[in-house]
Amino acid sequence: MDIEPGVDPGRMSAPVEDYLKAIYDLAGQSGTASTNDVAARLGVAPASVTGMIRRLSGQGLIEYERYRGVRLNDSGRAVALRTIRRHRVIETYLTEVLGYAWDCVHDEAERLEHAASDELVERMATALGNPTADPHGAPIPTADGHVDERKHRSLADLEIGTLARMVRVSDKNAGLLRYLAEIDLTPGAEVQVLARAPFDGPLTLQVGGTESVVGQGLAEQVMVEEVEATPDKS
Ligand SMILES: [Zn+2]
Repeated sequence: MDIEPGVDPGRMSAPVEDYLKAIYDLAGQSGTASTNDVAARLGVAPASVTGMIRRLSGQGLIEYERYRGVRLNDSGRAVALRTIRRHRVIETYLTEVLGYAWDCVHDEAERLEHAASDELVERMATALGNPTADPHGAPIPTADGHVDERKHRSLADLEIGTLARMVRVSDKNAGLLRYLAEIDLTPGAEVQVLARAPFDGPLTLQVGGTESVVGQGLAEQVMVEEVEATPDKS
């Protein structure tokens, strides 16, 4: 299967893939991630990050600028996106096909993303009908490295009364995911802020036909998009 010209991401070691994924995640719009942030994200000492950064730089996967941080070059970005694709396809397969709950797939995917071959992942994607988002609403990069990097506003910033659709939430906090599932606030659900208590107090939401109260911290982690008023087609 011809997936990735040039670099073969399948051949990278798990630590290399984890570093590149962390840098991709942390770099965001600026494109640069500080080595301290990378260390914190991966839970390793800054000194060991420095060693790995030199290695990745020597392998032509990242650019390192002293005092500024690291940025992925095209090869490193391709490896990061391939790893993210594997992670998100696996999460989708575990929930859709194997019936896992959405709060139980992240840790499995963290391990399997390094072990699964590209062929296995592509077969999973095909079996799923080539999904564009994972169970948490995160965009799945295409096999040739395109990804929807649109930023979304958080539920915490939504005006009162505006009808919105839940788009995405981080997959890393299982407790939060379980709570969101309890109040039916999952990707695709329509949500409205009915009231907001002052001084960063809780928000009263309407999800489906049900009212729920959530904290500001939770609302900040839930990404939404406004529902456009569509003309009646009948
Ligand atoms: Zn995950």
